[in-house]
Amino acid sequence: MSDTVKVGFVPLSTASRGIAVAFCDDSLRLGAATDKALGGASDLIKRAAAAARFKGKDGAVLDLLAPEGIKIQRLIVIGTGKGSDHKEKDFLKYGGVLTGKLNAGTEAVTVLAELPAGPMTPDQVSSLAAGIRLRAYQFDRYKTKKKDDDGSVSATVSIAVSDVAAAKKAFAPRTHVTDGVILARDLVNEPPNVLYPEEFAKRAAALRKLGVTVEILDVPAMKKLGMGALLGVGQGSARPSRTVVMRYNGGKKGEQPVAFIGKGVCFDTGGISIKPAGSMEDMKGDMGGAACVVGLMHALAARKAKANVIGAIGLVENMPDGNAQRPGDIVTSMSGQTIEIINTDAEGRLVLADVLWYVATKFKPKFMIDLATLTGAIMVALGTEHAGLFANDDDLADKLIKAGQETGEKVWRMPLGSEYDKLIDSQFADMKNTGGRHGGSITAAQFLQRFVDGTPWAHLDIAGTAMGAPKSEINQSWGSGYGVRLLDRLVWDSYEAKA
Ligand code: MN
Ligand code: ZN
Repeated sequence: MSDTVKVGFVPLSTASRGIAVAFCDDSLRLGAATDKALGGASDLIKRAAAAARFKGKDGAVLDLLAPEGIKIQRLIVIGTGKGSDHKEKDFLKYGGVLTGKLNAGTEAVTVLAELPAGPMTPDQVSSLAAGIRLRAYQFDRYKTKKKDDDGSVSATVSIAVSDVAAAKKAFAPRTHVTDGVILARDLVNEPPNVLYPEEFAKRAAALRKLGVTVEILDVPAMKKLGMGALLGVGQGSARPSRTVVMRYNGGKKGEQPVAFIGKGVCFDTGGISIKPAGSMEDMKGDMGGAACVVGLMHALAARKAKANVIGAIGLVENMPDGNAQRPGDIVTSMSGQTIEIINTDAEGRLVLADVLWYVATKFKPKFMIDLATLTGAIMVALGTEHAGLFANDDDLADKLIKAGQETGEKVWRMPLGSEYDKLIDSQFADMKNTGGRHGGSITAAQFLQRFVDGTPWAHLDIAGTAMGAPKSEINQSWGSGYGVRLLDRLVWDSYEAKA
Protein backbone atom coordinates (compact mmCIF):
# COMPACT_ATOMS: atom_id res chain seq x y z
CA MET A 1 0.00 0.00 0.00
CA SER A 2 1.23 3.46 -0.78
CA ASP A 3 -0.31 6.43 0.92
CA THR A 4 1.06 9.10 -1.37
CA VAL A 5 -1.78 11.54 -0.97
CA LYS A 6 -1.55 13.80 2.06
CA VAL A 7 -4.83 15.35 3.19
CA GLY A 8 -5.06 18.39 5.46
CA PHE A 9 -7.54 21.14 6.29
CA VAL A 10 -7.13 24.88 5.75
CA PRO A 11 -9.52 27.85 6.08
CA LEU A 12 -11.72 28.76 3.12
CA SER A 13 -9.93 31.70 1.53
CA THR A 14 -8.26 32.62 -1.73
CA ALA A 15 -6.99 29.78 -3.90
CA SER A 16 -3.96 31.23 -5.62
CA ARG A 17 -1.74 28.41 -6.88
CA GLY A 18 -1.69 24.85 -8.16
CA ILE A 19 -4.96 23.07 -8.75
CA ALA A 20 -8.29 24.21 -7.32
CA VAL A 21 -11.36 21.99 -7.03
CA ALA A 22 -14.83 23.53 -6.81
CA PHE A 23 -18.39 22.18 -6.69
CA CYS A 24 -21.40 23.40 -8.65
CA ASP A 25 -25.02 22.30 -8.99
CA ASP A 26 -26.97 21.56 -12.16
CA SER A 27 -27.61 25.26 -12.74
CA LEU A 28 -23.78 25.72 -12.65
CA ARG A 29 -24.06 27.75 -9.46
CA LEU A 30 -20.97 27.91 -7.16
CA GLY A 31 -21.01 28.60 -3.44
CA ALA A 32 -20.43 32.25 -2.52
CA ALA A 33 -17.11 31.63 -0.74
CA THR A 34 -15.90 29.51 -3.65
CA ASP A 35 -16.69 32.22 -6.17
CA LYS A 36 -14.85 34.72 -4.01
CA ALA A 37 -11.84 32.41 -3.48
CA LEU A 38 -11.51 32.00 -7.22
CA GLY A 39 -11.83 35.72 -7.83
CA GLY A 40 -15.19 35.49 -9.57
CA ALA A 41 -15.08 32.36 -11.71
CA SER A 42 -18.80 31.97 -12.35
CA ASP A 43 -18.84 33.54 -15.79
CA LEU A 44 -15.76 31.64 -16.87
CA ILE A 45 -17.36 28.36 -15.77
CA LYS A 46 -20.61 29.11 -17.58
CA ARG A 47 -18.78 29.77 -20.85
CA ALA A 48 -16.53 26.73 -20.53
CA ALA A 49 -19.47 24.54 -19.53
CA ALA A 50 -21.39 25.51 -22.65
CA ALA A 51 -18.39 24.63 -24.83
CA ALA A 52 -17.81 21.31 -23.04
CA ARG A 53 -21.53 20.41 -22.72
CA PHE A 54 -21.03 20.15 -18.98
CA LYS A 55 -24.36 20.38 -17.15
CA GLY A 56 -23.30 19.96 -13.52
CA LYS A 57 -24.68 16.41 -13.30
CA ASP A 58 -23.81 14.56 -10.11
CA GLY A 59 -20.18 13.40 -10.31
CA ALA A 60 -19.52 14.97 -13.76
CA VAL A 61 -16.28 16.94 -14.17
CA LEU A 62 -15.33 20.14 -15.98
CA ASP A 63 -11.55 20.37 -16.19
CA LEU A 64 -10.05 23.75 -17.13
CA LEU A 65 -6.34 24.20 -17.76
CA ALA A 66 -4.73 27.61 -17.10
CA PRO A 67 -8.09 29.33 -16.87
CA GLU A 68 -7.85 32.92 -18.04
CA GLY A 69 -8.52 35.60 -15.46
CA ILE A 70 -7.82 33.52 -12.34
CA LYS A 71 -4.47 32.82 -10.75
CA ILE A 72 -4.41 29.03 -10.57
CA GLN A 73 -2.96 26.55 -13.06
CA ARG A 74 -5.97 24.28 -13.27
CA LEU A 75 -9.59 24.38 -12.12
CA ILE A 76 -11.56 21.17 -11.66
CA VAL A 77 -15.31 21.69 -11.25
CA ILE A 78 -17.34 18.75 -9.97
CA GLY A 79 -21.10 18.65 -10.50
CA THR A 80 -23.38 17.81 -7.59
CA GLY A 81 -26.63 17.57 -9.59
CA LYS A 82 -29.71 18.84 -7.84
CA GLY A 83 -27.58 19.20 -4.74
CA SER A 84 -30.16 17.92 -2.27
CA ASP A 85 -30.38 14.73 -0.20
CA HIS A 86 -26.68 13.97 -0.36
CA LYS A 87 -25.43 11.05 1.71
CA GLU A 88 -22.04 9.93 2.99
CA LYS A 89 -21.56 7.84 -0.15
CA ASP A 90 -21.91 10.94 -2.37
CA PHE A 91 -19.11 12.86 -0.63
CA LEU A 92 -16.90 9.76 -0.73
CA LYS A 93 -17.57 9.67 -4.45
CA TYR A 94 -16.63 13.35 -4.96
CA GLY A 95 -13.34 12.68 -3.16
CA GLY A 96 -12.74 9.73 -5.47
CA VAL A 97 -13.69 11.66 -8.59
CA LEU A 98 -11.28 14.50 -7.87
CA THR A 99 -8.43 12.13 -6.99
CA GLY A 100 -9.03 10.33 -10.28
CA LYS A 101 -8.15 13.57 -12.07
CA LEU A 102 -4.72 13.87 -10.40
CA ASN A 103 -1.45 12.44 -11.66
CA ALA A 104 1.75 10.93 -10.35
CA GLY A 105 3.75 14.17 -10.18
CA THR A 106 3.39 15.75 -6.76
CA GLU A 107 0.66 18.32 -7.01
CA ALA A 108 -0.64 21.03 -4.68
CA VAL A 109 -4.42 20.86 -4.62
CA THR A 110 -6.91 23.11 -2.85
CA VAL A 111 -10.42 21.69 -2.55
CA LEU A 112 -13.01 24.35 -1.85
CA ALA A 113 -15.37 22.31 0.32
CA GLU A 114 -18.52 24.24 -0.30
CA LEU A 115 -21.80 23.31 -1.95
CA PRO A 116 -23.74 26.03 -3.78
CA ALA A 117 -26.08 26.19 -0.77
CA GLY A 118 -23.25 26.71 1.72
CA PRO A 119 -20.15 25.15 3.30
CA MET A 120 -19.98 21.36 3.61
CA THR A 121 -20.57 20.08 7.14
CA PRO A 122 -17.64 18.52 9.05
CA ASP A 123 -19.13 15.06 8.38
CA GLN A 124 -19.42 15.75 4.67
CA VAL A 125 -15.87 17.09 4.58
CA SER A 126 -14.53 14.01 6.35
CA SER A 127 -16.30 11.75 3.83
CA LEU A 128 -14.71 13.76 1.04
CA ALA A 129 -11.28 13.30 2.64
CA ALA A 130 -11.89 9.56 3.13
CA GLY A 131 -12.88 9.25 -0.55
CA ILE A 132 -9.59 10.86 -1.57
CA ARG A 133 -7.55 8.33 0.41
CA LEU A 134 -9.61 5.33 -0.71
CA ARG A 135 -9.24 6.26 -4.38
CA ALA A 136 -5.48 6.82 -4.05
CA TYR A 137 -4.89 3.33 -2.62
CA GLN A 138 -2.70 1.05 -4.70
CA PHE A 139 -1.36 -2.39 -3.88
CA ASP A 140 2.08 -2.23 -5.43
CA ARG A 141 4.42 -3.82 -2.90
CA TYR A 142 5.41 -6.59 -5.32
CA LYS A 143 6.20 -4.28 -8.24
CA THR A 144 9.90 -3.61 -8.43
CA LYS A 145 9.67 -1.29 -11.43
CA LYS A 146 7.45 1.78 -11.40
CA LYS A 147 5.78 2.90 -14.59
CA ASP A 148 4.59 6.45 -15.31
CA ASP A 149 1.15 5.40 -16.43
CA ASP A 150 0.29 2.98 -13.64
CA GLY A 151 -2.42 5.25 -12.28
CA SER A 152 -0.55 6.21 -9.15
CA VAL A 153 -1.24 9.60 -7.64
CA SER A 154 0.89 11.79 -5.42
CA ALA A 155 -0.47 15.03 -4.11
CA THR A 156 -0.82 17.30 -1.14
CA VAL A 157 -4.52 18.03 -0.84
CA SER A 158 -5.65 20.97 1.29
CA ILE A 159 -9.35 20.89 1.95
CA ALA A 160 -10.55 24.44 2.50
CA VAL A 161 -13.34 24.49 5.06
CA SER A 162 -15.29 27.02 7.08
CA ASP A 163 -14.25 25.45 10.41
CA VAL A 164 -10.83 23.75 10.44
CA ALA A 165 -11.03 22.47 14.02
CA ALA A 166 -14.45 20.89 13.46
CA ALA A 167 -13.29 19.23 10.23
CA LYS A 168 -10.21 17.77 11.94
CA LYS A 169 -12.34 16.45 14.79
CA ALA A 170 -14.81 14.78 12.40
CA PHE A 171 -12.03 13.31 10.26
CA ALA A 172 -10.04 11.74 13.12
CA PRO A 173 -12.35 8.71 13.55
CA ARG A 174 -12.94 8.46 9.80
CA THR A 175 -9.24 8.19 9.12
CA HIS A 176 -9.14 5.10 11.36
CA VAL A 177 -12.06 3.58 9.46
CA THR A 178 -10.27 4.32 6.19
CA ASP A 179 -7.15 2.63 7.60
CA GLY A 180 -9.35 -0.39 8.37
CA VAL A 181 -10.59 -0.54 4.77
CA ILE A 182 -7.02 -0.29 3.52
CA LEU A 183 -5.90 -3.06 5.87
CA ALA A 184 -8.71 -5.29 4.56
CA ARG A 185 -7.75 -4.52 0.96
CA ASP A 186 -4.11 -5.35 1.67
CA LEU A 187 -5.06 -8.72 3.16
CA VAL A 188 -7.27 -9.63 0.19
CA ASN A 189 -4.64 -8.54 -2.33
CA GLU A 190 -1.76 -10.43 -0.70
CA PRO A 191 -0.69 -13.58 -2.56
CA PRO A 192 -1.55 -16.94 -0.97
CA ASN A 193 2.08 -18.04 -0.60
CA VAL A 194 2.58 -15.05 1.68
CA LEU A 195 -0.76 -14.98 3.48
CA TYR A 196 -1.59 -18.46 4.84
CA PRO A 197 -3.45 -19.18 8.09
CA GLU A 198 -0.53 -18.71 10.51
CA GLU A 199 0.63 -15.51 8.82
CA PHE A 200 -2.94 -14.19 8.71
CA ALA A 201 -3.25 -14.88 12.44
CA LYS A 202 -0.01 -13.00 13.00
CA ARG A 203 -1.37 -9.97 11.15
CA ALA A 204 -4.56 -10.08 13.22
CA ALA A 205 -2.41 -10.26 16.35
CA ALA A 206 -0.94 -6.87 15.42
CA LEU A 207 -4.26 -5.40 16.62
CA ARG A 208 -2.95 -5.93 20.16
CA LYS A 209 -1.17 -2.59 19.92
CA LEU A 210 -4.62 -0.96 19.66
CA GLY A 211 -5.80 -2.60 22.86
CA VAL A 212 -7.49 -5.59 21.22
CA THR A 213 -7.17 -8.93 23.03
CA VAL A 214 -6.18 -11.53 20.43
CA GLU A 215 -6.40 -15.24 21.12
CA ILE A 216 -5.13 -17.72 18.55
CA LEU A 217 -6.47 -21.27 18.61
CA ASP A 218 -4.12 -23.80 17.00
CA VAL A 219 -5.06 -27.26 15.71
CA PRO A 220 -4.78 -29.11 19.07
CA ALA A 221 -6.91 -26.39 20.74
CA MET A 222 -9.56 -26.69 18.03
CA LYS A 223 -9.47 -30.50 18.27
CA LYS A 224 -10.12 -30.20 21.97
CA LEU A 225 -13.14 -27.99 21.27
CA GLY A 226 -14.43 -30.53 18.74
CA MET A 227 -14.26 -28.25 15.68
CA GLY A 228 -14.41 -31.20 13.28
CA ALA A 229 -16.09 -29.26 10.47
CA LEU A 230 -13.40 -26.57 10.25
CA LEU A 231 -10.53 -29.00 10.79
CA GLY A 232 -11.80 -31.31 8.03
CA VAL A 233 -11.39 -28.49 5.49
CA GLY A 234 -7.79 -27.74 6.49
CA GLN A 235 -6.56 -31.32 6.90
CA GLY A 236 -5.24 -31.59 3.34
CA SER A 237 -3.00 -28.55 3.65
CA ALA A 238 0.62 -28.38 4.76
CA ARG A 239 -0.34 -25.09 6.43
CA PRO A 240 -2.10 -25.71 9.75
CA SER A 241 -5.49 -24.09 10.39
CA ARG A 242 -6.12 -21.35 12.93
CA THR A 243 -9.09 -19.67 14.57
CA VAL A 244 -8.48 -16.15 15.82
CA VAL A 245 -10.70 -14.47 18.39
CA MET A 246 -10.31 -10.71 18.80
CA ARG A 247 -11.98 -8.84 21.63
CA TYR A 248 -12.29 -5.10 22.02
CA ASN A 249 -14.08 -3.74 25.07
CA GLY A 250 -14.89 -0.08 24.55
CA GLY A 251 -18.37 -0.33 26.02
CA LYS A 252 -19.73 -0.71 29.51
CA LYS A 253 -18.14 -3.38 31.66
CA GLY A 254 -20.06 -6.62 31.40
CA GLU A 255 -22.29 -5.38 28.57
CA GLN A 256 -23.20 -8.08 26.04
CA PRO A 257 -20.88 -7.84 23.01
CA VAL A 258 -21.73 -7.66 19.34
CA ALA A 259 -19.92 -10.21 17.18
CA PHE A 260 -18.52 -10.36 13.66
CA ILE A 261 -17.37 -13.63 12.12
CA GLY A 262 -15.34 -14.01 8.93
CA LYS A 263 -14.63 -16.84 6.52
CA GLY A 264 -10.88 -17.02 6.03
CA VAL A 265 -10.11 -19.60 3.37
CA CYS A 266 -6.64 -18.34 2.53
CA PHE A 267 -6.67 -20.36 -0.65
CA ASP A 268 -9.50 -22.46 -2.04
CA THR A 269 -8.54 -25.01 -4.68
CA GLY A 270 -11.89 -26.71 -4.10
CA GLY A 271 -10.02 -29.62 -2.48
CA ILE A 272 -10.68 -33.08 -3.96
CA SER A 273 -13.70 -31.56 -5.77
CA ILE A 274 -11.10 -29.43 -7.47
CA LYS A 275 -11.96 -26.25 -9.34
CA PRO A 276 -11.10 -25.71 -13.02
CA ALA A 277 -7.84 -23.85 -13.70
CA GLY A 278 -9.45 -20.70 -15.17
CA SER A 279 -9.30 -17.85 -12.65
CA MET A 280 -8.34 -20.18 -9.81
CA GLU A 281 -5.81 -17.52 -8.76
CA ASP A 282 -8.78 -15.41 -7.63
CA MET A 283 -9.31 -17.90 -4.82
CA LYS A 284 -6.59 -16.11 -2.83
CA GLY A 285 -9.46 -13.74 -2.05
CA ASP A 286 -11.60 -16.43 -0.41
CA MET A 287 -10.62 -14.90 2.92
CA GLY A 288 -12.39 -11.58 2.18
CA GLY A 289 -14.79 -12.08 5.09
CA ALA A 290 -11.95 -12.55 7.56
CA ALA A 291 -10.10 -9.58 6.06
CA CYS A 292 -13.18 -7.42 6.63
CA VAL A 293 -13.46 -8.52 10.25
CA VAL A 294 -9.79 -7.64 10.93
CA GLY A 295 -10.18 -4.28 9.16
CA LEU A 296 -13.35 -3.60 11.15
CA MET A 297 -11.68 -4.46 14.47
CA HIS A 298 -8.89 -2.07 13.53
CA ALA A 299 -11.41 0.70 12.75
CA LEU A 300 -13.42 0.20 15.95
CA ALA A 301 -10.44 -0.10 18.29
CA ALA A 302 -8.47 2.76 16.74
CA ARG A 303 -11.39 5.17 16.90
CA LYS A 304 -12.19 3.88 20.42
CA ALA A 305 -15.76 2.83 19.67
CA LYS A 306 -17.93 2.73 22.78
CA ALA A 307 -18.99 -0.86 22.28
CA ASN A 308 -17.91 -4.33 23.29
CA VAL A 309 -17.00 -6.21 20.13
CA ILE A 310 -15.91 -9.74 19.25
CA GLY A 311 -14.24 -10.52 15.93
CA ALA A 312 -13.67 -14.18 15.11
CA ILE A 313 -12.15 -15.66 11.97
CA GLY A 314 -11.67 -19.23 10.81
CA LEU A 315 -8.44 -19.56 8.81
CA VAL A 316 -7.79 -22.59 6.61
CA GLU A 317 -6.34 -23.60 3.27
CA ASN A 318 -8.43 -25.99 1.15
CA MET A 319 -6.05 -28.28 -0.75
CA PRO A 320 -6.20 -31.64 -2.57
CA ASP A 321 -3.82 -34.10 -0.87
CA GLY A 322 -3.49 -37.68 0.28
CA ASN A 323 -4.77 -36.50 3.62
CA ALA A 324 -7.51 -34.25 2.23
CA GLN A 325 -11.16 -34.63 3.12
CA ARG A 326 -13.17 -36.77 0.65
CA PRO A 327 -16.70 -36.47 -0.72
CA GLY A 328 -18.62 -38.98 1.37
CA ASP A 329 -16.77 -38.22 4.58
CA ILE A 330 -18.94 -37.45 7.60
CA VAL A 331 -17.59 -34.88 10.06
CA THR A 332 -18.87 -33.94 13.51
CA SER A 333 -19.11 -30.20 14.13
CA MET A 334 -18.49 -28.55 17.50
CA SER A 335 -22.29 -28.31 17.92
CA GLY A 336 -22.47 -32.11 17.78
CA GLN A 337 -24.40 -32.05 14.49
CA THR A 338 -22.95 -34.32 11.80
CA ILE A 339 -22.33 -33.25 8.21
CA GLU A 340 -21.91 -35.43 5.14
CA ILE A 341 -19.41 -33.91 2.73
CA ILE A 342 -20.86 -34.03 -0.80
CA ASN A 343 -18.58 -31.44 -2.40
CA THR A 344 -15.29 -30.44 -0.78
CA ASP A 345 -15.52 -27.06 -2.57
CA ALA A 346 -18.47 -26.08 -0.34
CA GLU A 347 -15.97 -25.55 2.47
CA GLY A 348 -16.70 -22.04 3.71
CA ARG A 349 -19.90 -23.07 5.48
CA LEU A 350 -17.98 -25.84 7.26
CA VAL A 351 -15.47 -23.34 8.59
CA LEU A 352 -18.19 -20.91 9.65
CA ALA A 353 -20.30 -23.62 11.27
CA ASP A 354 -17.73 -24.16 14.01
CA VAL A 355 -16.74 -20.52 14.46
CA LEU A 356 -20.39 -19.39 14.67
CA TRP A 357 -21.17 -22.09 17.23
CA TYR A 358 -18.07 -21.24 19.26
CA VAL A 359 -18.91 -17.52 19.41
CA ALA A 360 -22.64 -18.06 20.05
CA THR A 361 -22.13 -20.44 22.95
CA LYS A 362 -19.01 -18.90 24.50
CA PHE A 363 -19.85 -15.18 24.32
CA LYS A 364 -23.68 -15.09 24.03
CA PRO A 365 -23.50 -11.93 21.86
CA LYS A 366 -26.35 -9.49 21.16
CA PHE A 367 -26.07 -10.53 17.55
CA MET A 368 -23.68 -12.23 15.15
CA ILE A 369 -22.97 -11.05 11.62
CA ASP A 370 -20.88 -13.30 9.44
CA LEU A 371 -19.23 -12.31 6.18
CA ALA A 372 -18.14 -14.84 3.61
CA THR A 373 -17.20 -15.10 -0.03
CA LEU A 374 -19.52 -18.06 0.13
CA THR A 375 -21.24 -18.81 -3.17
CA GLY A 376 -20.89 -18.09 -6.87
CA ALA A 377 -24.69 -18.29 -6.91
CA ILE A 378 -24.96 -14.92 -5.15
CA MET A 379 -23.28 -13.32 -8.17
CA VAL A 380 -25.79 -15.01 -10.46
CA ALA A 381 -28.56 -13.48 -8.36
CA LEU A 382 -27.21 -10.01 -7.51
CA GLY A 383 -24.16 -9.32 -9.67
CA THR A 384 -21.44 -7.33 -7.96
CA GLU A 385 -23.43 -4.31 -6.73
CA HIS A 386 -25.13 -5.78 -3.68
CA ALA A 387 -23.99 -8.30 -1.10
CA GLY A 388 -26.59 -10.94 -0.29
CA LEU A 389 -28.14 -10.47 3.14
CA PHE A 390 -29.77 -13.33 5.02
CA ALA A 391 -31.09 -12.80 8.55
CA ASN A 392 -33.20 -14.44 11.22
CA ASP A 393 -33.90 -10.99 12.70
CA ASP A 394 -35.80 -8.23 10.86
CA ASP A 395 -34.50 -5.39 13.02
CA LEU A 396 -30.86 -6.32 12.37
CA ALA A 397 -31.59 -6.74 8.65
CA ASP A 398 -33.25 -3.30 8.45
CA LYS A 399 -30.31 -1.65 10.20
CA LEU A 400 -27.87 -3.26 7.76
CA ILE A 401 -29.93 -2.15 4.76
CA LYS A 402 -29.96 1.44 6.07
CA ALA A 403 -26.21 1.44 6.78
CA GLY A 404 -25.71 0.13 3.24
CA GLN A 405 -27.69 2.97 1.69
CA GLU A 406 -25.69 5.57 3.62
CA THR A 407 -22.24 4.15 2.98
CA GLY A 408 -22.82 2.84 -0.52
CA GLU A 409 -21.88 -0.70 0.58
CA LYS A 410 -25.25 -2.04 -0.43
CA VAL A 411 -26.96 -5.23 0.72
CA TRP A 412 -30.04 -6.97 -0.66
CA ARG A 413 -32.15 -9.18 1.53
CA MET A 414 -32.66 -12.75 0.39
CA PRO A 415 -35.08 -15.31 1.83
CA LEU A 416 -34.63 -18.01 4.42
CA GLY A 417 -37.30 -20.64 5.09
CA SER A 418 -37.70 -24.12 6.45
CA GLU A 419 -38.96 -25.26 3.01
CA TYR A 420 -35.35 -25.11 1.86
CA ASP A 421 -34.17 -27.46 4.58
CA LYS A 422 -35.02 -30.63 2.70
CA LEU A 423 -32.47 -29.66 0.06
CA ILE A 424 -29.70 -30.26 2.59
CA ASP A 425 -31.10 -33.44 4.13
CA SER A 426 -28.57 -36.28 4.03
CA GLN A 427 -29.37 -39.99 3.97
CA PHE A 428 -26.38 -40.70 6.26
CA ALA A 429 -25.85 -37.68 8.53
CA ASP A 430 -27.79 -34.77 10.06
CA MET A 431 -27.22 -32.71 6.93
CA LYS A 432 -25.09 -32.52 3.82
CA ASN A 433 -22.86 -29.63 2.84
CA THR A 434 -24.46 -28.76 -0.53
CA GLY A 435 -28.03 -28.38 -1.64
CA GLY A 436 -27.69 -28.76 -5.38
CA ARG A 437 -27.70 -26.23 -8.18
CA HIS A 438 -30.85 -24.23 -7.44
CA GLY A 439 -30.95 -21.59 -4.71
CA GLY A 440 -27.31 -22.26 -3.84
CA SER A 441 -26.86 -19.10 -1.77
CA ILE A 442 -30.04 -19.80 0.17
CA THR A 443 -29.21 -23.39 1.06
CA ALA A 444 -25.76 -22.20 2.18
CA ALA A 445 -27.39 -19.65 4.51
CA GLN A 446 -29.91 -22.24 5.64
CA PHE A 447 -26.96 -24.46 6.57
CA LEU A 448 -25.27 -21.68 8.59
CA GLN A 449 -28.48 -20.94 10.48
CA ARG A 450 -28.24 -24.38 12.10
CA PHE A 451 -25.10 -23.23 13.94
CA VAL A 452 -26.21 -19.90 15.45
CA ASP A 453 -27.90 -21.43 18.52
CA GLY A 454 -30.86 -19.04 18.33
CA THR A 455 -28.69 -15.90 18.38
CA PRO A 456 -29.97 -12.92 16.32
CA TRP A 457 -27.87 -13.35 13.20
CA ALA A 458 -27.19 -12.00 9.74
CA HIS A 459 -25.09 -13.54 6.99
CA LEU A 460 -23.53 -11.43 4.24
CA ASP A 461 -22.54 -13.34 1.11
CA ILE A 462 -19.80 -11.07 -0.27
CA ALA A 463 -18.51 -13.29 -3.09
CA GLY A 464 -19.50 -10.58 -5.59
CA THR A 465 -18.41 -7.50 -3.67
CA ALA A 466 -15.19 -8.34 -1.80
CA MET A 467 -12.94 -8.86 -4.79
CA GLY A 468 -12.79 -8.34 -8.52
CA ALA A 469 -15.83 -6.06 -8.34
CA PRO A 470 -15.99 -3.39 -11.02
CA LYS A 471 -13.74 -0.47 -10.16
CA SER A 472 -15.51 2.52 -8.70
CA GLU A 473 -14.78 6.15 -7.88
CA ILE A 474 -13.39 5.12 -4.50
CA ASN A 475 -11.90 1.76 -5.34
CA GLN A 476 -9.41 0.89 -8.05
CA SER A 477 -8.10 -2.14 -6.18
CA TRP A 478 -8.93 -5.82 -6.79
CA GLY A 479 -9.64 -6.35 -3.13
CA SER A 480 -12.31 -3.80 -2.25
CA GLY A 481 -12.29 -3.94 1.55
CA TYR A 482 -16.07 -4.34 1.34
CA GLY A 483 -17.95 -4.38 4.63
CA VAL A 484 -15.63 -2.40 6.90
CA ARG A 485 -17.44 0.90 6.33
CA LEU A 486 -20.86 -0.80 6.37
CA LEU A 487 -20.35 -2.51 9.71
CA ASP A 488 -18.53 0.39 11.32
CA ARG A 489 -21.55 2.49 10.41
CA LEU A 490 -23.94 -0.11 11.85
CA VAL A 491 -22.07 -0.09 15.16
CA TRP A 492 -21.87 3.71 15.19
CA ASP A 493 -25.57 4.20 14.40
CA SER A 494 -27.08 1.58 16.65
CA TYR A 495 -24.74 -0.04 19.15
CA GLU A 496 -22.59 2.65 20.69
CA ALA A 497 -23.28 4.57 23.84
CA LYS A 498 -23.33 8.19 22.71
CA ALA A 499 -21.63 10.75 24.92
MN1 MN B 1 -14.99 -23.47 -2.23
ZN1 ZN C 1 -14.57 -20.94 -0.68
